[in-house]
Order: sequence, then structure tokens, then C-alpha cells
Amino acid sequence: MRLTILGSGTNVHPTRAASGYLVRTDHTILLDFGPLTLANLLKTGVSRHRITHILFSHYHADHFSDFITYFFDAMIFTKYQGGKRPPLTVIGPRGTKRLFRSLFATLPGFTRAPFAVQFKEVSDRAFAIGDTTVIPRTVTHTQNLHCLGYRIEYGGDVDLAVLDCSFPASQPSPVHLHAGQCGQVAREAGVGQLVLSHLYPITERYNVREQAGEAFGGKIVVGRDLMAIKL
Ligand SMILES: [Zn+2]
Ligand SMILES: [Zn+2]
Repeated sequence: MRLTILGSGTNVHPTRAASGYLVRTDHTILLDFGPLTLANLLKTGVSRHRITHILFSHYHADHFSDFITYFFDAMIFTKYQGGKRPPLTVIGPRGTKRLFRSLFATLPGFTRAPFAVQFKEVSDRAFAIGDTTVIPRTVTHTQNLHCLGYRIEYGGDVDLAVLDCSFPASQPSPVHLHAGQCGQVAREAGVGQLVLSHLYPITERYNVREQAGEAFGGKIVVGRDLMAIKL
């Protein structure tokens, strides 16, 4: 399995794209599709037309907005440029079908894409994408919004956690993890490696690696855009 971080920041960040991760197993899968992650996807050299599944954690714009540009490009590519691409499955929490139904009904041409598109809502039940096992879990974020974390297994044990390290330990937030909590979660999950991601600009001023390391003895990496990790 190969993971490439397409975006290690959030929302509008001066040096990082927002949330997005490319995972390559027997399928090419995208986790979240926040602003500027599409531009980083192009830089990886992996064809964007190979992506078969997009998994969304939730629909705050910093996890989602580049999907619109991506899908419009896929329509142009297949309709006018003679391109071929596999069917696309969009997977996400409760509200996924409603959101995409209204989006596709509103944006010009979106319902007439010449390739198959389907939308699936998932909750706390494992499912398979080929030989890849995906286990979604409901996570706490903001009130009244169904949000998911995903565990992805392919050919062995899970050894890496990518976690929301929005803030330093000294600045806790009710809707995000801080660096110290990332260390605790990684320890409880029993993984060997922790990647800190979803960093707000203020967090750059603190040693979040050290803060996470107070609770977690494994390898800790502060994520950056286009970082590639082989598992
Ligand atoms: Zn959010
Ligand atoms: Zn976010």
C-alpha cells in the first residue's frame, strides 16, 4: 500500500493544501478532496483518471471542494477528448446521497457524464473495494454532522495512523484533536507510525512532534504535501 499526502493543512493555509490523501492498493483511492489537493494530485504523476473510489470523511469545504473541479474535468476528458475512465464510486457519511443529488442536479452537465457514477452512504460497517478492506467509524467532530474516519487494510496489518492535528496541546478545541491527543489516539490504536496532518497555521509555531511523543513511543512524522509513505 502506498499513501501520498495531497494536503496536510486545512481550509486556506499559506503553504499547505487542505485535506486530501491518495491511497494506492489494488485500487486507486482518494480520501477527501479539499482545496488545492487536485493540483497536488497532478504533481504526483498518478493519472487522475485511474481513481475509482473517493471516500469522504465529511463535507466541510476543506475536505470536499476540489471534487467539483475534478468531476467537471472528468466529464470534459471523457466527452470531448476521447478519454476513457473506470466507473467512479463516491462514498461518504450520512447525507452523501442528498448532497450529491442536489449538486449534480444544479451544476451544468453533471448528470450527463458518459461514465458510471454511484454514491454510497456508509456507517460503521466494513466493506471491500476489491482486495482492499475499508472499515469506516463514526467520529466526533461538529454537532449534528455525521463524520467518518476510515481504516484501510490491504495485505496485512494496519500500522499507520493519519490524524487531525489541528492545534498544539496548549490550545485544545472542542471539534478537533490537538497534538497531545493525537499521541494518545495513536497509542490506543496500537499503530507503529503516526502522521500529524490537518494543521492550522498557528500549529506550525509549536513542536507538535514532541507533544504527540509524550504519549506515543512510535515513529511520528509531521505531514507535508506530497510526502509519500510506503507500507
Ligand atoms: Zn470539518
Ligand atoms: Zn477540516
